[in-house]
Amino acid sequence: MDELFSNREGSSAQKGLLKSPALLKYIFERSGYPKEHEQLKQLREITVQKYGVNRSTMSVPVDEAQFLSILLKIMNAKKTLEIGVFTGYSLLSTALALPSDGKIIGIDVDRQAYETGLPFIQKAGVEHKIDFIQTDALSALHDLINGKHEETFDYVFVDADKKNFIKYHELLLKLVKKGGIIAYDNTLWLGTVAMSENNDKIEDSLWQNREPTLEFNNYIANDTRIESTILSIADGVTLCRCL
Ligand code: SAH
Ligand code: CA
Repeated sequence: MDELFSNREGSSAQKGLLKSPALLKYIFERSGYPKEHEQLKQLREITVQKYGVNRSTMSVPVDEAQFLSILLKIMNAKKTLEIGVFTGYSLLSTALALPSDGKIIGIDVDRQAYETGLPFIQKAGVEHKIDFIQTDALSALHDLINGKHEETFDYVFVDADKKNFIKYHELLLKLVKKGGIIAYDNTLWLGTVAMSENNDKIEDSLWQNREPTLEFNNYIANDTRIESTILSIADGVTLCRCL
């Protein structure tokens, strides 16, 4: 069971937050893992080995990656961006979902983590679709805007520091095409968005992302430039469709 919970949704399920452990186990065993690409499996396993069970919870779980992969294919997405790569589980899953001339720019301050996953990206034969940029996400987004990438992206996955999500959103609205999708990860933050400080408070290091997540969710709920929905898959994913 432990291996099943080597991801953030796993840790929230262990706490009984978003889904029961039994239901999560069923979804992973009967749907997620049987369809997981061999290199994604190996990348997931090396992430647990190298970063430990707790830090490896930063990778998206298999069911979320598979949902986003199907979405990318339905959309015929070609030009994509990821903010927050870590060891590359979601990056590799996206690259695998893109056509052979599709592209993904991955942005992260941490090159070492990306290099942990790189051998599996190479073995999967999709390195040519990836352009990894080691930099702070805000400066990367300003560079893309100045570099004439406005309204050119079909899809963006945002999974870096939660406190900057509103700033990323404002910049991404310039970069994404009308009809394009921005997916924001962890927008239910372990279920803490619906908890009370008095009764339910969990450890400080996790609780601290609750406030920025609440602010972001309110911001999106009132933003008329997009259609949006919070999906209660994994740790919560907000899909925004740019109008
Ligand atoms: N999407 C990945 C997990 C990303 S974890 C997956 O599912 O596999 C979050 C990542 O965001 C970390 O690797 C961290 O280095 C990066 N990050 C945090 N703040 C950042 C910033 N301001 N700019 C760029 N990357 C940042
Ligand atoms: Ca995440």
